[in-house]
Amino acid sequence: MKIISSSYVGPLHQLRTDALVVLIDNDTPLFTESKLDSMAKEVTKDVKDGILSSERVYSVPSGWKCGRVIFFCTSLQKNNASVEKIENTIAQSIAYCKSRGWLDVSILLNRDNENMPRFFDAAIMSQYSFVRYKSSSKKNTDKTLKINFIVEKKYSALLKERVEVVESVNLARNLVNEPANVADIDYMVNAAKKIAKDSKLKFTVLNKAELEKRGYNGLLTVGAGGHISPCMVTLEYIPAKPKNKDHICLLGKGIVFDSGGISIKPAADMWTMKGDMAGSAAVLCAMQAVVKRKPPVRISAIMCFAENLPDSKAARPGDIFTAANGKTVHVDNTDAEGRLVLSDGLFHAGKLGATHIADFATLTGACVVALGERIAGIMGNDDGWINKLLDASDATGERLWRLPLPQDYRTSLDTPVADINNVGGRWGGAINGGLFLQEFVPENTKWAHVDIAGPAFSQKKWGIYSEGATGFGVRLIYNLISN
Ligand SMILES: [Zn+2]
Repeated sequence: MKIISSSYVGPLHQLRTDALVVLIDNDTPLFTESKLDSMAKEVTKDVKDGILSSERVYSVPSGWKCGRVIFFCTSLQKNNASVEKIENTIAQSIAYCKSRGWLDVSILLNRDNENMPRFFDAAIMSQYSFVRYKSSSKKNTDKTLKINFIVEKKYSALLKERVEVVESVNLARNLVNEPANVADIDYMVNAAKKIAKDSKLKFTVLNKAELEKRGYNGLLTVGAGGHISPCMVTLEYIPAKPKNKDHICLLGKGIVFDSGGISIKPAADMWTMKGDMAGSAAVLCAMQAVVKRKPPVRISAIMCFAENLPDSKAARPGDIFTAANGKTVHVDNTDAEGRLVLSDGLFHAGKLGATHIADFATLTGACVVALGERIAGIMGNDDGWINKLLDASDATGERLWRLPLPQDYRTSLDTPVADINNVGGRWGGAINGGLFLQEFVPENTKWAHVDIAGPAFSQKKWGIYSEGATGFGVRLIYNLISN
């Protein structure tokens, strides 16, 4: 199904649409159209009396050109509805109309609201589904869903911007949802190359020989068992008039499939490991969205691609290699591979002259144990930089929670045979991952590590997200850089 978004600023009674969706809560202001106002008052009364719980469909007031008016309650509480509740109600209202064949839906968002970007996102993002391999989905391909937002005129440009951002979010979701037999290393490199070409960015790929020359042995070790060689891809954006000397490096983990390697994972849910490249998809697609705004700051995106498979050439537990920065690493567990590829990415960010690094990685199951499936962990070495990411998180609803990096925990990565072990003990696995990465952060560089193992992928539908990839990180990075 094709989706078109538009905005409408004319009088309501002249609007031609299948369904006019009106969201109300206890704080609903008077509507300028008296017909709508009297309907809204009736509905609000029923909401307060507990008669109405979710939605109410009205027939068309005489003289109006829309098919029907539907009220959706966003709150039965005294307090105003939360942003999440409004997002979910918007998603729910479109699904309601779609299921009845009303494919031209108009949503009244007549109030000034700082969260308008999130409401636009919710409407468009909630329509995403990954069904291209289902034969039954082919029947719907000629249909178009039109989502029309009735907003103040000043929001028209914002809607256009958000449509572009969501396109990038949904591209990230496609990359993650595609199975690893399709979205292999070559596929990811080509996706990055296409974005670089379309966005006029400098594109570099370091192939196996280049990685060997530079001593990027983390990537080489992890990718040794895959039939396609590992590589590192960089996209660079240099502004015409930079505001300062900052150089933001976005770094993404790109394990196109993580079997665990020789330390193989259990079979249950291993299929979700096709999404172990969600970090690289997020930084790639965020880069695509953000450079459209031509920000006055230098930005690079580094993606470390490898496939972690058991093979006669694969790395073994007990192997020791020397990382790019000269530290020796003991591979205790081949399933703790994300930190190994990122160690090269961090080193490379330093070579590019990064002043700020934000890495995005589906790094540890321990982070999911700590924070659940919907909140990412964030760690780092600079409060100011971390706080900027936390602010972007608040604005977008892509939730982060800060974890500490206590330096006395570093001893859990000690090993008698090398400078550092690639896993710690049983406890604090997300923190151990962060402490490992910290060893490879270039000097005098502000660094934040975002562990998205939980929110990158959801086996169940939740909120505005269909099951599968969420595109987590794209909107967060977009907000971080465009502000
Ligand atoms: Zn792993």
